[in-house]
Amino acid sequence: MAYLYETHLHTCQSSACASAAGREYIPYYLDAGYSGIVVTDHFFRGNSTLDPYLPWRAWVREFCRGYEDAREEGARRGLDVFFGWEETFEGDDYLVYGLDKEWLLEHPEVRRWTRREQYQAVQAAGGCVVHAHPFRQHDYIEEVCLAPRLIDAVEVANAGNREQGYDALALRYAEKLGLPLSAGSDIHHIEQAEAGELYGVYLREKPENSAAFAAMIKAGEVRGTADLRIEAGRLESRGDEALHTPLKILDETEQPISRNFWDFLRAGTNT
Ligand SMILES: [Zn+2]
Ligand SMILES: [Zn+2]
Repeated sequence: MAYLYETHLHTCQSSACASAAGREYIPYYLDAGYSGIVVTDHFFRGNSTLDPYLPWRAWVREFCRGYEDAREEGARRGLDVFFGWEETFEGDDYLVYGLDKEWLLEHPEVRRWTRREQYQAVQAAGGCVVHAHPFRQHDYIEEVCLAPRLIDAVEVANAGNREQGYDALALRYAEKLGLPLSAGSDIHHIEQAEAGELYGVYLREKPENSAAFAAMIKAGEVRGTADLRIEAGRLESRGDEALHTPLKILDETEQPISRNFWDFLRAGTNT
């Protein structure tokens, strides 16, 4: 028996690029056989609808609206809804799981976290940091930025990636680092659910809450690509042609390492 989870989902209540409200997703995920979803709206530095000058506690209350909307409908209809968020740095995005609204209310410094502070604080609180779509490239991204020492897991398939090679590279990266895998839809619109473009992960046990979900991802309960719900053939390429943007690798203090990415992939994990 395996339980299926969406790991990457946006709501229009606080993600500026999303069009669906939290509750609208619930029937689609139930129909597709999911046990739960994690709501991961764009956080403070991301594409948020929220006024950054709101007092912190008010900001957090607004930020949680999409999650709470989904959770209420999920509770009514029988789908677990967990809390998370997606923060962005220099075009590199991270999904944070396992912390909750109460924790956020008490930690306004989260707005100014560096990647290192994010990793350390989330680790101290028992949560999990996943590098989302690490090789996604766009015109506005000047450099692909990797921080292999400051993450717990890698999102190796993202339904929103335009090129399959991005996912293939992410899988090679995760395997080289020996890090746990994740996959998610990065869903912003109901149309994606209607089209059946839903990704996710299979877990052998049902996490009771957001903290348990985070712990299972971090512990590598997603044991390989067979535990990913993805489009067939999605990870079959090698991704050799998929890197067309300069890339930098950061060490644990966020200083760039002077190392070629392909050498890094070949050479192993000792950065
Ligand atoms: Zn978005
Ligand atoms: Zn996202």
